[in-house]
Amino acid sequence: MTRNAVLGGGALGLTAALRLVQRGEEVTLYEREPVPGGLAAGFRVGPSYLEKFYHHLFRSDTHAVAMIEELGLGDKLVWPRPLTSTLIGGKPQQLDSALSLLRFTPLPFQDRLRLGFALLYLRREPNYHRLEHTTAEAWIRRYMGERVFEVLWQPLLRSKFGDRASEIAMPWFWARTHFRSTSLGYLRGGFQQLYDSLVGAIETLGGATCFGTEVQAIIPHYDGTLSVRTAAGEERFDRVISTLPTRLTINLTQELQGEYERQYGTLQSYGAHCAVLMLDRPLTDIYWLNINDPGYPFLALVEHTNYMPPEDYDGKRIVYLGNYLPMTNELFSMSPEDILARYVPALKRVNPSFDESWITEYQMFKAPFAQPIVTLGYPDRLPAHQTPVMNLYLANMSQVYPQDRGQNYSIAMAERLIESLPVATSRL
Ligand SMILES: Cc1cc2nc3c(=O)[nH]c(=O)nc-3n(C[C@H](O)[C@H](O)[C@H](O)COP(=O)(O)OP(=O)(O)OC[C@H]3O[C@@H](n4cnc5c(N)ncnc54)[C@H](O)[C@@H]3O)c2cc1C
Repeated sequence: MTRNAVLGGGALGLTAALRLVQRGEEVTLYEREPVPGGLAAGFRVGPSYLEKFYHHLFRSDTHAVAMIEELGLGDKLVWPRPLTSTLIGGKPQQLDSALSLLRFTPLPFQDRLRLGFALLYLRREPNYHRLEHTTAEAWIRRYMGERVFEVLWQPLLRSKFGDRASEIAMPWFWARTHFRSTSLGYLRGGFQQLYDSLVGAIETLGGATCFGTEVQAIIPHYDGTLSVRTAAGEERFDRVISTLPTRLTINLTQELQGEYERQYGTLQSYGAHCAVLMLDRPLTDIYWLNINDPGYPFLALVEHTNYMPPEDYDGKRIVYLGNYLPMTNELFSMSPEDILARYVPALKRVNPSFDESWITEYQMFKAPFAQPIVTLGYPDRLPAHQTPVMNLYLANMSQVYPQDRGQNYSIAMAERLIESLPVATSRL
């Protein structure tokens, strides 16, 4: 039986481990954090889990839905259609349907029509390859018009990608428009249940999971086997599947440093920062508010309890304030108190009656490698799953191109990869 090590216990690693044990192979999964779930992991709030970073599914996320059903959690999956808006000129503007587009007053009627036709084209166009040689900025300016770009998309691209906004490749924008639904799927009680169930299913089939165990090195041997080093020592495997970011996998594997590193080690990602505030009353009636107005210290305000009922969280109202930034940004080293002091005046701008005393608790979360920066030529810099090191495979979030990252795409990639691997006898 092939002995596999899977590195990383997020959606990708857990799915890979499950599919391997299901076909009778031996698996040991290593995860640095004490709990499974990676970027989608949650923490307890009352009777539920709440994600550290806001999460939902789209109707097109069929692999994630199938996994939720396979694990017996389908009855907890709900599909509300919460209010989503964009803050423009101090007013939340809804823009998620043909009707709301017609009523979208920040743009003259002619521009709304042009925007509508361009969005329709992107929803219908199945082939993103023909958009591969242009940036989102150039395409939007050309087909949606200068004003639409400046009012709607430029602030969004800037808040998500900062200085790199004008380099973002059009397929990234296409994927966001092509696949997204207005009904949003959520696992009542938190996505953590999906990850806990995955661990349960892996262990039931004989797989081993090591949480709170950081991988320190991957060491290939002449016979094609590989050792995985952790603080507990070294263990030898026939195959290693790393779901860690490419940069981290290179750092752990001396044999990938050099040519491979020069070719594939340069893909960049931003980190994510999220403040989670618990309030004693609602702040808005909107679930998702993109911030297009200048001068705000966060790019999105996500009021989770306008999507899921506050009863799931002991009556608390939950507001996320999110940012994507280079990890060198000062936000990642500021104290939670200083960050909150920066955010409070902005919350008053969103709702003038807001008072700091509404905040009963708050927590801040940060993660590196959270938002791949998809620029022109990105696919040429994407490594294949098979690395030059025999039996070392790489599968991570940055490879879901042209999709933006998402649980669904990590699950789908893990399934594709495992299906493609030969079932072999162990050399150990
Ligand atoms: C702010 C934000 C909002 C998001 N919103 C959504 C959403 O609405 N819907 C959606 O579907 N997706 C969303 N996503 C994306 C989603 O979270 C990811 O696509 C998905 O969780 C990625 O899973 P993964 O397993 O590929 O990677 P990860 O979750 O990053 O897993 C990699 C794992 O490797 C572990 N690791 C790292 N180094 C080591 C080491 N040396 N040894 C052992 N383990 C190690 C990490 O701890 C981590 O658990 C969001 C992400 C962010 C940041």
